[in-house]
Amino acid sequence: MKALDELTFDNRFARLGDAFSTHVLPEPLDEPRLVVASKAAMALLDLDPAVAETSVFAELFGGHKLWAEAEPRAMVYSGHQFGGYTPQLGDGRGLLLGEVYNQAGEHWDLHLKGAGMTPYSRMGDGRAVLRSSIREFLASEALHALGIPSSRALCVIGSSTPVWREKQERGAMVLRLAQSHIRFGHFEYFYYTKKPEQQAELAEHVLNLHYPECREQPEPYLAMFREIVERNAEMIAKWQAYGFCHGVMNTDNMSILGITFDFGPFAFLDDFDAHFICNHSDHEGRYSFSNQVPIGQWNLSALAQALTPFISVDALKEALGLYLPFYQAHYLDLMRRRLGLTTAEDDDQKLVESVLKLMQNSGVDYTLFFRRLGDESAELAVKRLRDDFVDLAGFDAWAERYKARVARDGDYTQEQRRERMHAVNPLYILRNYLAQNAIAAAEAGDYSEVRRLHEVLSKPFEEQAGMEQYAQRPPDWGKHLEISCSS
Ligand code: AMP
Ligand code: MG
Repeated sequence: MKALDELTFDNRFARLGDAFSTHVLPEPLDEPRLVVASKAAMALLDLDPAVAETSVFAELFGGHKLWAEAEPRAMVYSGHQFGGYTPQLGDGRGLLLGEVYNQAGEHWDLHLKGAGMTPYSRMGDGRAVLRSSIREFLASEALHALGIPSSRALCVIGSSTPVWREKQERGAMVLRLAQSHIRFGHFEYFYYTKKPEQQAELAEHVLNLHYPECREQPEPYLAMFREIVERNAEMIAKWQAYGFCHGVMNTDNMSILGITFDFGPFAFLDDFDAHFICNHSDHEGRYSFSNQVPIGQWNLSALAQALTPFISVDALKEALGLYLPFYQAHYLDLMRRRLGLTTAEDDDQKLVESVLKLMQNSGVDYTLFFRRLGDESAELAVKRLRDDFVDLAGFDAWAERYKARVARDGDYTQEQRRERMHAVNPLYILRNYLAQNAIAAAEAGDYSEVRRLHEVLSKPFEEQAGMEQYAQRPPDWGKHLEISCSS
């Protein structure tokens, strides 16, 4: 266990120099205070969890203090936003403080979001509000606990600094951890600004640090791109299987590591709805729940375009062709397990599709349906779930097919079935209304609800005594919350 001043830095990205990022110091928040910290994320840095309660912790992550070895940098990138190319973006309000390596030899970027203006702030104020910082913190840690690759969050620091959005709010900072903050948009930036040398340097950097096994392949860059395709397909398969809607899948928000990145107006589905749009400024539904799958491929094509100086177009196309089969395989595997199946049959895809369609038409809670399906034998579970459906004949037909399929799957006890299903079907997810309750309390100065919710969501598959209220469908007020996109 380390104290705060014992972190070891090795700032590999900063060493790439001024073509890649700009030195900027964090702009401190007034009266910084700890809102919430993640012990699990602190463990990634070997940090003693007790240090979160010290004033130095709030000063470091509230922008007042800095380690001597930190080299805060704002990174430059660009990206496709809602389908159109924006030539220059970059860290407009976040800073890469440095890279810390832990005892296991892993490097973690410390990225402070809401740290003030940078050369890339454009019209923005460089700040993040408490509400959006709490949402990012809760989402990153909750996704990780669900087994969905994500950037992590070490803490949220609140303050008395006024920040103007639709109304006056308070500034906050979230300390994000990831093994890299390089986005698809980094490659696009050097491609479209015609800087082949820097682009090659970036590609070498990513290959050496994050995909070293691809070095062994006859075409290392192609192998790396394939790996990026596969990781993204797997990540999006998990989003779809668990009902996560990202909301702003612009290429500047897509990580080169295939982790969920840059949280904005995201949402988990309550009722199953394939057409759900969580981002209210997304009028055409480009990033609707079901569109996340083709958009994942679209984004990878945008990255492929930027990699044409290194890889032949034919090879890139072939690698892109892996996306859908990979996605399908991961998605179906996970959905089978959510249904409690241990074997594969050709018709399983249809079994999944038809229950989703029934859920869609009846507004059935996506998370609770699967959890309850595992509570009892297939026979008893479908009897109890039947009441949630409007199309009873449709549901009965599905239930017959499901029971027959379960019977063919194997011979196991209900104990085994429950254990296996509950291990993949969460009881607790980050429902928007739960986040909203925690935010309202935090905005009034009470951080206990954020902390409790974070605790509950860190063990989403485990039933926790006294926490029934976190496993409920939303009340009426919480069903279709408009989440502000200004963050
Ligand atoms: P996002 O939609 O949060 O992914 O942000 C898109 C771009 O806008 C990124 O370059 C951000 O750094 C920048 N940005 C977002 N909000 C602000 C802000 N309040 N101040 C400065 N830049 C911002
Ligand atoms: Mg972004």
